[in-house]
Amino acid sequence: MSLKAVDGILSSLKSCQTDIGTGMDIVTDVAMDLVEAQDEEMNPGIKEMEAMILECAKLDREINYFVDIVQQNTAEVTSQQPEAMFSLFGRVKEQFAERIAQLSDADLHNHQKVAAFKESIKNSFQQANQESAEDMEELDEDIAVTQSQVNFTCPLTQVEMVNPMKNKKCNHHYDEKAILSLIKTKHSQKKKCRCPVVGCGNTDVIESDLIRDQILRRTIQNQRRQTNKT
Ligand SMILES: [Zn+2]
Repeated sequence: MSLKAVDGILSSLKSCQTDIGTGMDIVTDVAMDLVEAQDEEMNPGIKEMEAMILECAKLDREINYFVDIVQQNTAEVTSQQPEAMFSLFGRVKEQFAERIAQLSDADLHNHQKVAAFKESIKNSFQQANQESAEDMEELDEDIAVTQSQVNFTCPLTQVEMVNPMKNKKCNHHYDEKAILSLIKTKHSQKKKCRCPVVGCGNTDVIESDLIRDQILRRTIQNQRRQTNKT
C-alpha cells in the first residue's frame, strides 16, 4: 500500500463522515416532525431514530479513531525506513482494535450530534405539549360557547331541566319527570305522545327512546354553580 493510497482512503472516509453527519441531521429533523405531528405511534418511532443516531455516532467515532491512527502511523513510517511501510496495515489494525475495545456506548451520548438530537426532541416535545395545552384551552372555550347555546329549558316545564333526558330518535331534550308523566297521560288516553318541541316531526315518543343525558345534567349544574357565584 502506498502513502498515496492511504491518503485516498482517508479522504473517502472523511467524505463518509460528512454524509453520516448529514444523515444524522435528517433523522433529527424527521424525529422533530414526528413529535410536532403528535403522532400516537411516535414514541417507538423516535426510539428507533435515536438508535439510528447512536449507530451513526458510533460509525462516526470509529472513523475518527481510524483516521487518527492511520495519520499517526503514516507520519511515523514516512520518517522511517521504507520497509516500515509494510507493517503499517498491521499496526493500524492492532491499534484500532485496541481503541475500539476501550470505547463504551455510554460515551456515544456525548457525541455532538447525539446531544443535538436529544436537545431538539426535548424542545419539540415541550413546544408540542405547550401547543396542545393551548389547543385544549381553545377547545374548552368552544365547548363553553356551544353549551351556552344549547337550550337548557325543558319544552314542557319551561324551566331549566334538572334531569335532562334525550330522545335518541329526534335528539330533543326534556326533563325526566315531565316527559314521563306526559307519556303516561297520553298512553292512558290511548294516544301517542308527540314530541313537545315545536316543529318536531316525532309523533311517538316512547320511554325506551329516552336516555338520561348525564353530560348535559352536569353542564347545567356547572353553569348554575357559576351563575350563583357571580
Ligand atoms: Zn323531538
